[in-house]
Amino acid sequence: MRVVVIGSGIAGASGAYHLARRGAEVVVVDDARPGLATAAGAGIVSPWASVNEELFVLAGPAAGYYPELVAALGEDTAEPTSYAVVGALVAGRDEAALRETQRRVTARAALHPAAGEASLLDPAQAGALFPPLHAGLAAVHVSGGARVDGRQVRASLLDAARRRGAELRTGTAALTVDGVRVDGAPVGADAVVVAAGAWSAELVAALGAQLPVAPQRGQITHLEVAEDTTRWPVVSPMDSGHYLLAFPGGGWWSGRRGRPGPVSTVASPQPGSWRCWNRRSRSRRGSARRPCWRPGSASAPPPRTVSPCSARSPAIPVWSWPPGSAPPA
Ligand SMILES: Cc1cc2nc3c(=O)[nH]c(=O)nc-3n(C[C@H](O)[C@H](O)[C@H](O)COP(=O)(O)OP(=O)(O)OC[C@H]3O[C@@H](n4cnc5c(N)ncnc54)[C@H](O)[C@@H]3O)c2cc1C
Repeated sequence: MRVVVIGSGIAGASGAYHLARRGAEVVVVDDARPGLATAAGAGIVSPWASVNEELFVLAGPAAGYYPELVAALGEDTAEPTSYAVVGALVAGRDEAALRETQRRVTARAALHPAAGEASLLDPAQAGALFPPLHAGLAAVHVSGGARVDGRQVRASLLDAARRRGAELRTGTAALTVDGVRVDGAPVGADAVVVAAGAWSAELVAALGAQLPVAPQRGQITHLEVAEDTTRWPVVSPMDSGHYLLAFPGGGWWSGRRGRPGPVSTVASPQPGSWRCWNRRSRSRRGSARRPCWRPGSASAPPPRTVSPCSARSPAIPVWSWPPGSAPPA
């Protein structure tokens, strides 16, 4: 069977790899347009405390599948995935709500062992795990919380797919009633996978189909500190769309969950500095970039505000720097 996969973000890359591993003849098409969500995503792999049951039905098994995926990729490519189980903190002040979260995670762990164990931490214990966490916050620690750098796992999936025989092609795909065209030329296919991210709906609209996929906007800032951040857990403060997570090498990211709208804030880490900007992306209006970054350095303390790009302040203060100082404004 010959399958054309349109889009090579994490969804298309994963689809291509799994199809190629099962013996399909795969062609992946991507035109590398600005706004790739996979490059901007924070990479939190920790749905275990989610209150959204509908989302959990999909996200729980997907998160639980990661160890198996990482092992399979290890057979097919030398590209690292960056996947790491570092634990997660669901931080808050309301003890009853924290206990309810602990109960929910524990119940889920019975069916999803990847969730690990849920334990209550007082503010000192939580702060010991994630030093910039605001001093007043207690937390539920979920030992199975994990994170991944979307760019790395995408590179790993695409390299593994290629080694399994997939063809990676650069070009713009369009759907017509008689098949797929890439830059205007027909490409034969028995099946087509549309994994074009936020552009998927407009792609299938050419066939008269309606797909309930719309762009969302989110904010994320990459920061850097002279600390060993390798084991810092993912932090999801309760009653807040914000999240915090860290990667090896002193980088840690602060972001806010997406809301419907055409503007996406995308950040890119630079060694020894931090920056963020707004990028009009994944919208019909193209990719006009609106810079708004402030320089910093590894030796300077990170900013005390979440981001000059942030549309809203956090509902509750979630971090401070130096640890224990006044919370961010
Ligand atoms: C700030 C932010 C934080 C996030 N944090 C998290 C998180 O912590 N955890 C989590 O699970 N998710 C997170 N997400 C969401 C996650 O990043 C996305 O859901 C995921 O990356 C989407 O992947 P995708 O492959 O569907 O789309 P994309 O990565 O956008 O890839 C789509 C690809 O399709 C290509 N394409 C589109 N149309 C065509 C065409 N006609 N022809 C050829 N190529 C085409 C594009 O060039 C692009 O490469 C976050 C997202 C953002 C923006």
